Amino acid sequence: MIDFAPLAGCRYTVIGDPITHSRSPEMQNAGFAALGLGRPYGRLRVPVEELPRFVEFARKHLDGVNLTIPHKHHILKELAGISREADLCGSVNTLLIRKGELYGETTDGYGFSEAVREAFGLATEGLRAVFFGAGGAARAVVFFLAEHGAEAIRIVNRTRERAEALAEALHDAYPGVAVETAVPGDRAKVREFLAGADLAVQATSQGLHREDPPPFDLELLAGFQELACFDMIYHRTPFLERASELGHQTSGGAGMLLHQGARSLELWTGKKAPVEIMRQALAAAQQAG
Ligand code: NDP
Repeated sequence: MIDFAPLAGCRYTVIGDPITHSRSPEMQNAGFAALGLGRPYGRLRVPVEELPRFVEFARKHLDGVNLTIPHKHHILKELAGISREADLCGSVNTLLIRKGELYGETTDGYGFSEAVREAFGLATEGLRAVFFGAGGAARAVVFFLAEHGAEAIRIVNRTRERAEALAEALHDAYPGVAVETAVPGDRAKVREFLAGADLAVQATSQGLHREDPPPFDLELLAGFQELACFDMIYHRTPFLERASELGHQTSGGAGMLLHQGARSLELWTGKKAPVEIMRQALAAAQQAG
């Protein structure tokens, strides 16, 4: 049974299961406080079977929610409305609650593109990217990139069918974008993808633990120093470390977390997010562990 006590006095929250690792409250509360809006953002563990009870609570007591694993898809059936982008990628990470009705948005793609622009100076327009992973995060991002002018999206995933299903959905929505797939064992194809790309994105959950084997043979990166390497995971991963040794520019996923959160704050408040203040709060929270 969920205990709603941690949300006393809150109008916003992040939910997930697990959730203790989430640094969104520190980051969002710094943003709200800088806008003179207090510290109204909480954190709540919501097991998937309790989502309907949480929704009932949110309709009455909250103005906005961020969602993380495992809720980004399960929430869809509860929505009164959804943005075109969230609808296309089938995933919602932000709820706006108006008069007891839930509206779904996704800000992951925006967060990713801002992070990549900031880290590498790469624009979404004309971008050629190789994604390792075809889960919810990759899906949200590739649709955003296609919508905003990317030229080519290559998807490499352990489960071939999942990569192909994503590629097909992307091609149907954006026939002008070059979309191809491979599995990590298709070494020649992966090399070909990397040779023709500006950006490689590690979008699997491999690397969350130091002992995780990489999702593909990292030596395949050798010789393509111009290729920027981005990992959606927040900390330094074996992918980032090896890419760095091979001479690539690298970035972890903290910038994506920052910018997706800043965009959520803007959607809720209608005000420009104090991004630098939120960045500092996020870095401090991550350092504190
Ligand atoms: P999903 O569970 O939806 O997808 C997981 C992906 O990882 C799938 O492509 C899966 O492949 C792959 N994978 C899992 N285990 C292995 C393995 N042993 N070997 C190879 N591939 C594997 O997760 P999400 O897409 O939601 O999240 C992916 C990562 O992105 C997570 O680490 C998450 O923390 C991070 N993330 C970061 C964000 C940020 O703001 N920086 C925002 C959202 C997510 P398969 O299809 O074969 O199972």
